Amino acid sequence: MKRRNLIKGLGILPFSGSLLSKAASLNKSAEPPVTPKRDFFKELGVTPVINAGVTMTFLSGSLMAPETLEAINSTSHDFANMYELQDKVGAKIAEMLHVEAAMVTSGAACAMLLGTAACITGTDAEKIKMLPNLPGPRPEVIMQKTHRYLFDQAVSTTGAKIIEVTGPAEMEQAINKNTVMALFFNAAGSSSITHEDFVRIAKKHNIPTFLDAAADVPPVENLFKFQKIGFDLVTFSGGKMIHGPQSAGLLFGRKDLITAARLNHSPHEAPIGRPMKVNKEEMFGMYAALKAYLERDHKKEWEDWLQRAKRIGTKLETVSTVKTKTVVDPGPANAFPSLFVDWDESKVKIKAEEVLKQLKDGTPSIVANRREGTLVVGVVLLRPDQIDVVANRVKTILQKAATA
Ligand SMILES: *Cc1c(COP(=O)(O)O)cnc(C)c1O
Repeated sequence: MKRRNLIKGLGILPFSGSLLSKAASLNKSAEPPVTPKRDFFKELGVTPVINAGVTMTFLSGSLMAPETLEAINSTSHDFANMYELQDKVGAKIAEMLHVEAAMVTSGAACAMLLGTAACITGTDAEKIKMLPNLPGPRPEVIMQKTHRYLFDQAVSTTGAKIIEVTGPAEMEQAINKNTVMALFFNAAGSSSITHEDFVRIAKKHNIPTFLDAAADVPPVENLFKFQKIGFDLVTFSGGKMIHGPQSAGLLFGRKDLITAARLNHSPHEAPIGRPMKVNKEEMFGMYAALKAYLERDHKKEWEDWLQRAKRIGTKLETVSTVKTKTVVDPGPANAFPSLFVDWDESKVKIKAEEVLKQLKDGTPSIVANRREGTLVVGVVLLRPDQIDVVANRVKTILQKAATA
C-alpha cells in the first residue's frame, strides 16, 4: 500500500472502528458470554444449568435481558432516595401500561401480599402497624374454588381468610362487611365465573379485584388486557418471560391502592412488606426490562423460537423412529412453543424419564421436561449457542439407546 493510501486508511479507522465495536457490543446479547476473569460458579463449585424447560423459581427464573443488566450495572455506583425512585419508576411504568399507578415489588408473590395488605389497611397508619394481627373478625378475600393454588398463601400471610365460591351467585352471596378483596388466578385450569362477571359483581359491592397473571406473557397484549376489563390491581412476575430480575415484579392499577401498598412496603421500616425489600438496581432493572419487552419485535422472537424447535427436531429425527412436533402451550401461562419428542421404545430402548436424568447428570447439566412418556424440550430460554448443545446431547442419548 502506498503511504498516502495508508494515511487515508488510518484517517477513517477511528470512525469505522468505533462503529464496528458498537455493532459488536449490540450483538453481544446473542452470543455466549466471554469467559469471565473470575468464574464464580467454579469458585463455589456451583453447576451452571442449561434451561431447556420453562421459567422456574428454583432454576433462577429467566436470564435477564441485556437492557436489564445494563440498568443494574450502570446505576449501582450512586445512591438514590428509594421513595423518589419508586415514585419515578412507578409513574413511568404506569404510563407504559396505561394505568393510574404502579410499583416494583420483590416478585408477583410479594405483589399479592402487598395488594391484599393495601385492601385491608388503606392508608390507616394504625392498621398498617398492626398487620397481620388486626383486632376483630379476619378480613376475607374471595376466590373461586378452582382458583385455589400454592401462591394464595401470600394472601393469607396478611391474616386474611380465603372464602371459596363457585359461580356468580355464590360470589355475590359471599360478599359481606369483612370482604376486602376478590382474587382471580388468571392461569387457573377452569373458572366458574368469567373475568367480566367477576369484576362486575365486585364493583357492584365496591370490592377491589386483584388479578394474578404472573407468568402470562407472551402475548405482550396481556400486559394491557386485564386493567381494561376493570381489574383494580394486576401483577406480573419480573423473573419470567419479561426477563427482568427474578427478585422483582410489577404491581399496577388503582392509584389509591398502590399508595396503600407502598405504605405496607420497604423502605418504610415496620410494615408487613418490609422483609420483601426491593433495591435500587432491581427497580431500574425492572423498568428497563419492561421497556425492552414492550419494544421487542415479538413476531421475530416467535419466529426464532419456531426455528429453534425445527433445528433441534431435524437433528433428533435422524435417529430411527424418533418423531418430533412443535407444540404451542395454550396458556395463559407459558404460552410459547416447545418441542415434543417421541420414539418407538421397542427400537430406542429408553424412557423419557431416563433421558431427563442423563441430561441433568451430564456436563453441561441440562434441564428439560416431559409430559407422560413424551420428552419436552423447551427452546425459549436457551442462549443461541446452547441450541445445538441441547440438540446434540439429546441425539447422542437417543442414538445410544437405539443401538443398545
Ligand atoms: C411465578 C408465579 C408467581 C410468583 O411470582 P414471583 O415473581 O416468583 O414471586 C405467582 N403466581 C403465579 C401464577 C406464578 O406463575
